[in-house]
Amino acid sequence: MIYHFKIPKNHPRAESLKIRIKLIKAERRNIVAKAGLIAHGRGEAFDYLIGEKTIPPALAATKAAIAAMLIANRPVISVNGNTAALVPKEIVKLSKLLNAPLEINLFFRTRKREEAIKKWLLKHGADEVLGVGENASMIIPELFSERRRVDPKGIYSADVVLVPLEDGDRTLALKKMGKFVIAIDLNPLSRTAQTADITIVDNIVRVIPNMIKITKRMKKLPKEKLKEILIKFDNKKNLFYVLSYMINRLKEMAIKNE
Ligand code: ATP
Ligand code: MG
Repeated sequence: MIYHFKIPKNHPRAESLKIRIKLIKAERRNIVAKAGLIAHGRGEAFDYLIGEKTIPPALAATKAAIAAMLIANRPVISVNGNTAALVPKEIVKLSKLLNAPLEINLFFRTRKREEAIKKWLLKHGADEVLGVGENASMIIPELFSERRRVDPKGIYSADVVLVPLEDGDRTLALKKMGKFVIAIDLNPLSRTAQTADITIVDNIVRVIPNMIKITKRMKKLPKEKLKEILIKFDNKKNLFYVLSYMINRLKEMAIKNE
């Protein structure tokens, strides 16, 4: 069925509704899996808890992530359906700025979805997209989901991997392979958030534009300075700050309702 969406401009939730429509349209194009729509709902719930804005610990994690990507020898950006649907232009731009190839990696992998996402990224300016079809010829050991298939030119030989909206099993498996893992996940309690080396608890629609801005600035810094930023970052502490932020915000809201 074809139906049209019209969101009143002054609707208080217009931004959030627009994002949902983007995902629904991408689902029709085979870019997003049906389960991806549900995963977005969980993300939205956690976004509410941080007030739908980038909170200070998320910004600190984003800066540390860029330092790690700039220091890396072979950084790679993993792309799933939701990421491609929500920030296609931005992820391509970031990939070029950081010299980090894009690799498609899907939990619900079908050739049709891989091809649809590849086409979508090429349309948004990508020169190359890894991890499609036979190119995802290497297997991550001890991983049994379709997420295990990776490209020898990409994630398999990467030292630093950026994984937006990742599944916990693969985060663990990537860590076991010795990769430095940077996660973007609104849920600070997910296995991904708890296992990654750097966890950015923020919405991908804000993180990638932030990353672009920060990369432009940090690219000019000497390697020593980048290393210092990275060494000073402590993911456990950062997650503690994120959870404390959520708790305090909820407390303030509870008091208002007293
Ligand atoms: P894990 O497998 O790490 O234990 P999970 O099984 O609870 O996590 P998944 O469905 O595997 O969750 O991963 C989806 C994750 O992506 C969720 O934690 C959700 O909060 C997060 N997420 C969804 N949409 C966004 C978004 N727009 N920005 C950032 N994170 C998001
Ligand atoms: Mg999961």
